[in-house]
Amino acid sequence: MRAEVIESLKQIVGEDWVLTSLDQTKGYLYDETEELMRPEAAEDSIVVKPGTTEEIAEIMKYANKELIPVVPRGGGTGLCGGAIPTETSIILSDERLNKIIEIDEENLMATCEAGVTLADLLEKLREYDNLFFPIHPGDEGAHIGGMVVENAGGAKAVRHGIMRNHVKGLEVVLPTGEIVNLGGKLIKNNSGLDLLHLMIGSEGILGIVTKATLKLYPESKYSGTLLISFDNRRDAIGVVPKILQSGIIPLAIEYMERDIALESAAHIGEKWPAEEGSVDVIVMLSENKEDDLYEKSEVIAELCEEHNAVYTMIAETTKEQRSILAVRSNVYTAVVHDAADALDMAVPVASIADFMNDIFALAEKYGARTPSVGHAGDGNIHNFIMRENGERPSYFDELKEAMYKTAVKYGGTITAEHGIGKTRVSNLAIQLSQKEIELIKGIKKVFDPNGILNPGTIVNKR
Ligand SMILES: Cc1cc2nc3c(=O)[nH]c(=O)nc-3n(C[C@H](O)[C@H](O)[C@H](O)COP(=O)(O)OP(=O)(O)OC[C@H]3O[C@@H](n4cnc5c(N)ncnc54)[C@H](O)[C@@H]3O)c2cc1C
Repeated sequence: MRAEVIESLKQIVGEDWVLTSLDQTKGYLYDETEELMRPEAAEDSIVVKPGTTEEIAEIMKYANKELIPVVPRGGGTGLCGGAIPTETSIILSDERLNKIIEIDEENLMATCEAGVTLADLLEKLREYDNLFFPIHPGDEGAHIGGMVVENAGGAKAVRHGIMRNHVKGLEVVLPTGEIVNLGGKLIKNNSGLDLLHLMIGSEGILGIVTKATLKLYPESKYSGTLLISFDNRRDAIGVVPKILQSGIIPLAIEYMERDIALESAAHIGEKWPAEEGSVDVIVMLSENKEDDLYEKSEVIAELCEEHNAVYTMIAETTKEQRSILAVRSNVYTAVVHDAADALDMAVPVASIADFMNDIFALAEKYGARTPSVGHAGDGNIHNFIMRENGERPSYFDELKEAMYKTAVKYGGTITAEHGIGKTRVSNLAIQLSQKEIELIKGIKKVFDPNGILNPGTIVNKR
């Protein structure tokens, strides 16, 4: 990076908050897709850590004038390369914007700066009697800003929906340096086009999120987790729409193949309770009355038995529930070292069984190992494409494309929650028409006329 740029940024944020040597910056050159993207061309990038919205506005004005790419960065837990620079850039880390500004118990809203981690927000909520924030992507190191622009999902979407359903207000710095405030503590708001919702899921290409107001809920008093095992995938997945049709709305319905459950359990030193069967479904319930919890657990257990379940465990103690959920949560960390990619396609819930059959037929055709877990209640399955002898297999791109086409054939999406980022740009046209891609490029141009913000994310560079 040019010396005068470094100097100008130090003038804005202070000497200590600009990192320039590769030793200091290399941790900021990757996200969780490290293996898919190798940003050698970006090693000359620098990291700035502004402490206020106004400093971010100054940085953006400067970068826009000098035409320097800016890559926003939150917790770096992203799974699509969005936070990875691909050319010499200013990496703008929001880590110093880490204040929880307000917990508004009256309106059930929390207002946070963008760099607050999910872990910090959840810890803060524990200070209150019964406040609950439902969005939980697997890694609590994710920042609120990153969760907003990635429109994060996670397991509990079955009952509560995704990040989009919980973001009520945003403060955003535009690529040209203006600050806008979108929405507020409102449940209804119909003024003009919905720029708030355009910003949610925008993957850091339209603006830098600096503050977010989020919807909270009273926490239910009783929770239970059912672990139900089946002999085959079709039975396990086939029961998911039946549970949803029963009128019970669980917090989560997760699907996990046994091999991967055992791998994850071994990874974290837990014992997986189910021995019968080869595929598991986990149903999380939370209710205000204990009787409701038991009654709903019984209904689900019976439904699963009718659908050929071979083992049912109703975990009631916190310890048992935590153990099952920890195994599910750690699947990614257990297998990532051996995975070439983790896909996150989704299809309409009633089509998952057929979709998965096609996916496994494809895997067989290519001789690939594609262990799967997923948020089955949302029709969202994570298929890993595993490496061979430590390398990305030669059929990788072809198989991935064929899998994406299969999802689209069922009316699905190539990415339910991880986003397009930089790793899926070349696959976007599998799902979207040329007209839709042109509209996205047109919107990008309105917000970012010089194409400086996160170039190469969602759409190709300027
Ligand atoms: C083990 C594991 C499990 C996961 N499970 C899930 C899951 O179940 N569901 C799910 O949805 N995701 C999941 N994820 C993915 C990830 O946690 C989410 O995408 C999360 O929202 C990313 O937040 P982050 O702060 O780490 O963002 P980063 O990785 O830092 O950035 C992600 C994108 O957001 C942009 N960005 C970051 N901060 C800002 C900002 N303040 N303003 C504008 N743009 C910004 C970046 O440029 C980049 O494009 C998982 C990740 C891991 C490692």
